[in-house]
Amino acid sequence: MRWNYSCPKCKAMLNPDETIILIGRLEKVKCLMGFHPEPGNYKIFVPPGITVNQGDIWNFSCPVCGQDLTAEQDEKLCALNTNIEEETHLVLFSRVAGEKATFIVGKTGLKERHGEHVESYLPRLIQMKYLL
Ligand SMILES: [Zn+2]
Repeated sequence: MRWNYSCPKCKAMLNPDETIILIGRLEKVKCLMGFHPEPGNYKIFVPPGITVNQGDIWNFSCPVCGQDLTAEQDEKLCALNTNIEEETHLVLFSRVAGEKATFIVGKTGLKERHGEHVESYLPRLIQMKYLL
C-alpha cells in the first residue's frame, strides 16, 4: 500500500517521493528531516552533521506553509493527514526522539497503533475521533 501524507494546515503533500519531509527544530538546530512512510517504521533521515539524541523533543513544521504540526490533542505528538480509502485520517507520532508511538485516527476513532511506547498515550487517544 502506498501511503500519502499531507499537511493538516495547507494540505500540501509531504511525501511526493516515498520519504516524508518535515522541518525539524531543536533549540538552534533547524533542518529538513525525512521519515519512513510506513507507520511503525522509525527510520529517520537527517542531514550530515545533525545528531538526534534519545529523549530530545523536536518540533516539526510543514516545509510548504511553515506551520507548526504539533498535535492539538497532545503536545508530545506531531500530526499529519493521510487518506485511507478516500477518508482523511489523522496520523499522530511522538516528537520525542527514540520514542516509538504512532497512531492513526479516523471518524470512528483510533484505527491503528504502532510502536512499543504507545501505552502512556492510549487513555487520551482511545476516546479520540478525527472529525473534519
Ligand atoms: Zn503546510
